[in-house]
Amino acid sequence: IAHLHDYFNEQTLNHPIQVISMAGRDITADALQQYQPDVLLIRSVTQIDAKLLDTNQSVKFIGSATIGTDHVNEGYVSLRGMRFANAAGCSKHSVAQYVMSAILQLRPEYWASNTSQSDKPVKLGIIGLGNIGSTLARYALDLGWEVLGYDPFQSASVINNASVDKVLAQSDVISLHVPLTLTGHSELPTYHMIDADALAKMPSTTMLINTSRGAVVSEADLLADLNQNPERQVVLDVFENEPTVSAELLDKLTIATPHIAGYTLEGKLRGTQMIFDAFVRSYGE
Ligand code: NAD
Repeated sequence: IAHLHDYFNEQTLNHPIQVISMAGRDITADALQQYQPDVLLIRSVTQIDAKLLDTNQSVKFIGSATIGTDHVNEGYVSLRGMRFANAAGCSKHSVAQYVMSAILQLRPEYWASNTSQSDKPVKLGIIGLGNIGSTLARYALDLGWEVLGYDPFQSASVINNASVDKVLAQSDVISLHVPLTLTGHSELPTYHMIDADALAKMPSTTMLINTSRGAVVSEADLLADLNQNPERQVVLDVFENEPTVSAELLDKLTIATPHIAGYTLEGKLRGTQMIFDAFVRSYGE
């Protein structure tokens, strides 16, 4: 938020625009009432819903400098005639690099896996082949790994799509790159997509990495799986009830990070610039 505040302040210096930072405080309906902003700039912590916007008449544009949009009720925002922009793809390289770093730290032998003819190639399963998933696929293909992808909504991709069961059963590592979608909002919701059934299809040697959204994985089912298969390596950057994390689960994870996979200077800068460009397109120079 400090980055958004400084950048917008700098860019709008000679315009009659006041940029107020609410960093460290919640944006509440009361705060909107007090400041009457025309524009709201947020990252993923602020929930944009009917409760926040119902009594507000001033906001015309909401910009979220994030890839994910599950914290924004976009249907309601558009119903109220407000414009919305997010920053699709802004930190795709950061997240893909986080995943590659985690894999190579935990399995350094994969680095050289393509140099010996006798080695069977590493099989990386990628669920969700959008901006991040396809960037990760390119990195993996460059290392000579085999990529098994699953994304029923992508036809033209750098890799061929496999069935989800094949990805679950045959991958050495599975990395999740889907948006969080709920029943009723998508024909194939991703909420708890990795549950007891899915985990049962993954050999206990298969590593699971989730940098997408916490609730794509059922944490209760994951905990039960880890109790049964303590050798499974699990890397989580996102959690079901962020910022609250179950201590019992945390204890069993191989790597746990606090939602920072996309949090690089480059990613933040690109996200902020994308939101600024969308703001200029909405308001003119
Ligand atoms: P994207 O929209 O470019 O790609 C998502 C892909 O998931 C799409 O191709 C879509 O077709 C696919 N998909 C949707 N439902 C699916 C399903 N049921 N099964 C399989 N595939 C499905 O998004 P992205 O930029 O690649 O981001 C992916 C995720 O990463 C998002 O959840 C985003 O919020 C998260 N993210 C996390 C961080 C972090 O810091 N941890 C940073 C950036 C983004």
